[in-house]
Amino acid sequence: MNATQDSAKTPVQGPAWNLDEEYPALDSPRFREDLDAVKDLLARLEPAGELIGTRAAGASALDPVTDAALLAACGSFALGLEEARTILGSLQVYVNCLSSVDGSDAEAKRLRGLLQGLDARLDTAAAGYALVMAHAPDAFFDAFCGPACADPALHGHRFLLSRERRLRPRLLSLDMERTLSTMAPDGLAAWGNLYTNLTGTLRCTVAQPGGGATAMGLASASSLLKRPDRTLREAAWRGINEAMAAHQESFSSILNAISGWRQAEAGLRSRVEPVGCLDESLHMSRIGRPTLDALMGALRQSRELGRRALRAQARLCGVERLGPWDILAPAPASPGGPAGRAIPWDEGVSIVRRAFAAVDPAMGEFVDRMAAAGRMEGRDMDGKRPGAYCTRFPKSRNPYVYTTYRGSLSELSTLAHELGHAWHGEVLRAVPRMESRYPMTLAETASTFAEAALGDFLASEAAAGGDAGAAGLELAWSDAQDAATFLVNIPARFEFECRLREARPSGPLGPDALCGLMRASWEEWYGDSLSGYDEWYWASKLHFHMTGTSFYNYPYSFGYLFSLGVYARRRELGPRFPEAYVGLLRDTGRMEAEEVAARHLGVDISRPDFWLAGAGMVEEKVSRFERLAAGASGH
Ligand SMILES: [Zn+2]
Repeated sequence: MNATQDSAKTPVQGPAWNLDEEYPALDSPRFREDLDAVKDLLARLEPAGELIGTRAAGASALDPVTDAALLAACGSFALGLEEARTILGSLQVYVNCLSSVDGSDAEAKRLRGLLQGLDARLDTAAAGYALVMAHAPDAFFDAFCGPACADPALHGHRFLLSRERRLRPRLLSLDMERTLSTMAPDGLAAWGNLYTNLTGTLRCTVAQPGGGATAMGLASASSLLKRPDRTLREAAWRGINEAMAAHQESFSSILNAISGWRQAEAGLRSRVEPVGCLDESLHMSRIGRPTLDALMGALRQSRELGRRALRAQARLCGVERLGPWDILAPAPASPGGPAGRAIPWDEGVSIVRRAFAAVDPAMGEFVDRMAAAGRMEGRDMDGKRPGAYCTRFPKSRNPYVYTTYRGSLSELSTLAHELGHAWHGEVLRAVPRMESRYPMTLAETASTFAEAALGDFLASEAAAGGDAGAAGLELAWSDAQDAATFLVNIPARFEFECRLREARPSGPLGPDALCGLMRASWEEWYGDSLSGYDEWYWASKLHFHMTGTSFYNYPYSFGYLFSLGVYARRRELGPRFPEAYVGLLRDTGRMEAEEVAARHLGVDISRPDFWLAGAGMVEEKVSRFERLAAGASGH
């Protein structure tokens, strides 16, 4: 974290990934064959789904013996659908990988649209089958995928289908379900697309420290918020918010329409019992309401911890209070310290490998295999999409890691984070595909765990080398930033979304009202720990405008505290930990989160104690940072 990060390029960067094992190119025979295979499967699934759909209305009276033909048709439909989704998913992952590396790849963009269309056709084809499975009596369902079913390939379908069956009261008729899914692409989803298009093209005017101003895209302006120069960060933040204000009518229309659509759909689905605004999110998160309440209660009780972290950060920066433009700032430069040195890629990978091997030798070997197979993308070049992610090809089940690596400690931590996700994917090879889809609440367990393992490893190395100073402070800074993000910022987002859902039924909210809601939400959580609040956050934060999922916030805080709970077990279990950890990860796609926690950690996450214990571990980190900050700033 020194001045070199501000120059456009550094000599240190990561390698290109090698995707040839999946597909050599978009125009390769292998890509074309898979595309044809999906189309062939669709041609078979569409009429079959239509036929199954004719039985949806009377599905509650189905009998496994007299309706044996339908049972068999459903079985073959389910396997065909799984195959189509597996192949289509691999094509989509490949296209997405190419677009990430080269945002201007026109052919990738064209194919993305085409594949999305195929995806939507699959959903429509499956609508009747989904209703039959949801409404069929237990005897029929058990014969389909229970122990009584002779085809083991169908057993893996049981978990996800059982969950959908619990939503029976919310399901509409086949016609209504099809109408909704037909209208959604140019309705609900279109608002999300508008947001993406608007934020992808609008210009932010950022005042330059030396005078004058530069116009730039939102992504570039946002990346300035992570720069060491505080004046530049503030200028970027002001430039972003001015752009938000200039487009306030568009942004508020988008948010009102998304919220209004969800409210209207929940109304339609409330015929048997009322559907609350959180219900869909809880279902997708695979947790019950008591668990969410326990988590939010513990977060509320611990928000002072996040504020303490912010105050200590301010002390270290030599300011009275941080501004809203400081919450993503890197650790202040420590001249001459090891934190200022760029860590070459190979050395970085070797550090992560050793940190992983300290947890479980198999994890260390896995990092070597990822490197040898070229499954990591780390180049620093123009046209690459910012950010980092881990992705899996459903067909081969190979995980790949995407990042931009320039050798900073925080980028090394990101690499460990993504390799943690990759290890999760590796472990899931052992379970059926249909049991390997985990919810967002459990998604960040392996990644956050990996970051913690790296942090511990580096701290012990630094201590052993007698050089805990700069690296220690930089690590502690990122601990403090995490505390502020997960105990204050994420809850403030949740608070805003709750308030919006509460207010929206009385009519659309104008930009002023939305700014007011955001200000109140920040005040509730940040208190006096900042010099001001980010009232345009409702417009600038993508997560509020995503149409595939609502309340895209609390699962982050869940994952943070949950992974701390897992990490605590590492110390308790010692040599027995690796096996327990793999067992936990393996079950993330086939159990409710409560069950995963009870079975593998022996804890009840619907009680506040579990979450408060996690907050206790954060308290240790924050206190350590406060001591370091007081020392470094001479107080
Ligand atoms: Zn992640």
